[in-house]
Amino acid sequence: MSLSIHGIGVSGGIAIGHAHLFSHARLEVAHYVVPQDQVAEESARFEVAVQNVRAELESLRASLPPTAPAELAAFIDLHLMILGDSTLSVAPRRIIETEKCNAEWALRVQMDALVAQFDEIEDGYLRERKSDVIQVVERMMKALSGQPGYVPPPPKADSEQNLILVARDLSPADVVQFKQHQFASFITDLGGTTSHTAVVARSLAIPSIVALHSARQLIHENELIIVDGVQGVVIVNPDEQVLSEYRLRQYEFDLERQKLKRLKGTRAATLDGVPVELQANIELPGDVAEARENGATGIGLFRSEFLFLNRADLPDEDEQFEAYRKATVEMDGMPVTIRTYDLGADKPSDELQRHTLNPALGLRAIRLCLIEPKRFLIQLRALLRASHYGKINILIPMLATAGEVDQALALIRQAKKSLDEQHVPYDRHIKVGGMIEVPAAALALQIFTRKLDFLSIGTNDLIQYTLAIDRTDDTVAHLYDPLHPALLGLISGIIRNANKAKVPVALCGEMAGDISLTRLLLAFGLRQFSMHAAHLLDVKQVILHCNLAHIKPLAMKMLRTSDPQKLQALLARLNA
Ligand code: PEP
Ligand code: MG
Repeated sequence: MSLSIHGIGVSGGIAIGHAHLFSHARLEVAHYVVPQDQVAEESARFEVAVQNVRAELESLRASLPPTAPAELAAFIDLHLMILGDSTLSVAPRRIIETEKCNAEWALRVQMDALVAQFDEIEDGYLRERKSDVIQVVERMMKALSGQPGYVPPPPKADSEQNLILVARDLSPADVVQFKQHQFASFITDLGGTTSHTAVVARSLAIPSIVALHSARQLIHENELIIVDGVQGVVIVNPDEQVLSEYRLRQYEFDLERQKLKRLKGTRAATLDGVPVELQANIELPGDVAEARENGATGIGLFRSEFLFLNRADLPDEDEQFEAYRKATVEMDGMPVTIRTYDLGADKPSDELQRHTLNPALGLRAIRLCLIEPKRFLIQLRALLRASHYGKINILIPMLATAGEVDQALALIRQAKKSLDEQHVPYDRHIKVGGMIEVPAAALALQIFTRKLDFLSIGTNDLIQYTLAIDRTDDTVAHLYDPLHPALLGLISGIIRNANKAKVPVALCGEMAGDISLTRLLLAFGLRQFSMHAAHLLDVKQVILHCNLAHIKPLAMKMLRTSDPQKLQALLARLNA
């Protein structure tokens, strides 16, 4: 049966391929359909696993010596209680029977649901019990693996290019690993438009959709699906007619991309001759190649924290230095703006992981750096050393106060001094800039224009913090609105005030790569855009066709308008 599921398209294009259900946690399990005549056996296999784990835990408890600390018995009791909860011991059987899936998958689905409930608990102690749930499930998985059940046929010899990953949620750390793969697309049940997961998805230049809510329930392994990243629609088991229609659209889309390649070497300037700088956002040094292929004239944002993800330890000074040097050398004299690590919130590192109630408002980015200056100095020294090999700018994320700027600058001075003492060369004129992504910084811009060499507007966070919408939360994703009058006022104000103060200002949030906003930002006075390489040529094409003198009055009118519909209508006229 064919069906369609709607979500939020976060990266355009069309993919057609076979579903591969993916779970990112350490409990990676296969998902397969169990033939009808084997379902009862599969369900019984699950029941045996539950009984075995119960027996195991009970014998563990009985074998505790009387001198054992009381917490140990309490701990085992807790695990027995979790095992006894129907969510883990009964509901999976229902899933096996109704969905005809393997026991491991049914258990995994239930664990995800339970873990999600724990994540929402405010009480820190109770939330911590999530790890107990995972431990019990791990024990159950182990018990299941000891009793082989139905063996599914080997998966079709399908290349990655035909695979569409279907996940409940993916972390930015998961997605960045996809850079080593060639999946056709990925779709998730959770996630927001500017979550870092979506941000990285755009850098992969593959169609992707988030906030589908029930894709993992509705889609089965290996089913044929179409992902329309433009409309945010997934079509499961399309009929022949729909399939051929989408094949045509896919062909047209690819053709358009090929045509755009011709603009690679063209200088970006408006019709009335105003030059515009188009730079690329990267996560890892390996992304430089794509930036260059798309004609980037610099790296406007190197999200250095991605070097810190997917690992238990932290990269040392030499490893960081090599990464920064590599990107810089490959940019061959063009500027590379490296942001100091913006860890925390939706990019926790294993090493620096801390539990806070409101991660986006907690110890994130520069705040985390300043409470651990020793660790921050390692990065600063690595950045300075790499600056000897090209044109590096240092960018500090999430600044809100003058004190933070002063402390960061003092640490940079300290790092320079330590290198001087060791006679290590670095660029003595290295520029230091700040991200303007907290409303307080936007409103008190003078603090930053006085102390810093350049600014970069991080609209992803600026929108999150101004509209109070968690950028990773799909339930509030519909409230994401870059055209909110408050944001138009803030963004145009930052650009105007920075230009007045003669401090270079760039914009590196996702708005920079949204062609429906290019003209508006140009009219606000923005002359430096940084975005994922995949968008560079689209944006360049818009700039090449834009006459600034024509669009300015309309943009100014937008700044005086507060009605959302009128704003949309004005934007449409601006882009006509
Ligand atoms: C932003 O906030 O707009 C930004 C560019 O930084 P990040 O998306 O990495 O938070
Ligand atoms: Mg940000």
